[in-house]
Amino acid sequence: MALGTSLTLWGLATGRGPALRFAVWSAGPALAIADIEGEQSLNISLRSIEACITPRTRAILVVHYGGYACDMPGILSFAQKHGLAVIEDAAALAADVPYLTNETVFSLTALPPRLAVIGGGPIGCELAQAFARFGSRVSLIESGPHLLGREDADAAALIETVLRREGIELYLEAKILEVVTAGEEKIIRLQRGDGGGEIRVDAILVGAGRTPNIEGLDLERGGIIYDRSGIKVNDRLQTSNPLVYAAGDICSPYKFTHTADAQARILIANALFMGRQKASALVVPWCTYTDPEIAHVGLYERDAERQGIKITTLTVPLATIDRAVIDGDTEGFARIHLRRGSDQILGATIVARHGGEMISELSLAMTGGLGLAAVGRTIHPYPTQAEAIRKLADAWNRTRLTPTVKRLLGGWLQWRRR
Ligand SMILES: Cc1cc2nc3c(=O)[nH]c(=O)nc-3n(C[C@H](O)[C@H](O)[C@H](O)COP(=O)(O)OP(=O)(O)OC[C@H]3O[C@@H](n4cnc5c(N)ncnc54)[C@H](O)[C@@H]3O)c2cc1C
Repeated sequence: MALGTSLTLWGLATGRGPALRFAVWSAGPALAIADIEGEQSLNISLRSIEACITPRTRAILVVHYGGYACDMPGILSFAQKHGLAVIEDAAALAADVPYLTNETVFSLTALPPRLAVIGGGPIGCELAQAFARFGSRVSLIESGPHLLGREDADAAALIETVLRREGIELYLEAKILEVVTAGEEKIIRLQRGDGGGEIRVDAILVGAGRTPNIEGLDLERGGIIYDRSGIKVNDRLQTSNPLVYAAGDICSPYKFTHTADAQARILIANALFMGRQKASALVVPWCTYTDPEIAHVGLYERDAERQGIKITTLTVPLATIDRAVIDGDTEGFARIHLRRGSDQILGATIVARHGGEMISELSLAMTGGLGLAAVGRTIHPYPTQAEAIRKLADAWNRTRLTPTVKRLLGGWLQWRRR
């Protein structure tokens, strides 16, 4: 992602030459630029700018080119007279604003006192929380209405609450208008709803998604079809060139280390040992390593709805699990989606400090075709947080207690007491 300069982000082209330029920078459609290339007289320049100022003008952006000296005190008093801010930015139009990515952030040797994280997906949330806990003042910017938009809505809402409580400033439904530098400081201007806003930080971490790295591979020559999302493969991981297979992030909808590993195993079996294994047969769990973690496997409620599958959803809050109470980990829950009228597990979400450890039991059940009844029959040591999973089975058993079954059971017990 290129964080463009202020003027390119506003959609304006600016010619570049060995001149001192003043740009009058406004909000919205009233934007105007006084381009006075070659003009060195400050008075004339400022008069030109004055003509461009409208009630919506907010600031003057001063851009230096070609080593021209600039009468900054003159500009400052001019700006003061018009109630405008001054942004002096020699580099803004010449170079992108520096930012961190998942590749560079782990090489930091000093903690940024103020950090903006762009992107409220798993990487953005994990790193925002980590940096906040290190001591940075973190602003987390997300264009969607919620963090972790693909996750279970209750799980995502819980993480929002936790992050806010830990002092992270959340900017949801925020559109970044521009990013500029002012000395060492980075300024992010946002639009939210009808209003605007500005965040000043020392570092920016971009976690707004990754794109496949396929340049230079000459895939066309190999007859391998690809698009922006990566290399196209069939269910057996074969590309459009039957002699070439692919595995991992480059071709998978699941971008995880464990899926890359699982696909690599399929690839070896299919490519080298005439296997017929299918990638779609994989049961893929995943986990977002916030605290608490959000672990998931299989379908979400919305997937079932989309596919027209009728489900029964059961939830056990961690606050009802003794071990979670003892550990002080009561924020969270275990949730399961069953095919309605059966104990077939279609999906599950666990929000817990070690949710990633707990989800494997349900992944195993799904992979092995075991229903929730089998999970319920499995003895879980007490006290463990995994008991929440057994309690899901208890909750399912209770749903089977229909009024008729209840009446029959009551009659049976009464008869036994005689
Ligand atoms: C910040 C971050 C955190 C993550 N956390 C998790 C996590 O907690 N759990 C999880 O499961 N997943 C996590 N992931 C995702 C995980 O890293 C990927 O899904 C996984 O690495 C995919 O493996 P891969 O082999 O497909 O691709 P990669 O690991 O990206 O490996 C591709 C390799 O190919 C090399 N390469 C690229 N182009 C060429 C070329 N032309 N010629 C030769 N070599 C080339 C690259 O240098 C690289 O070594 C995380 C990702 C990020 C960015």
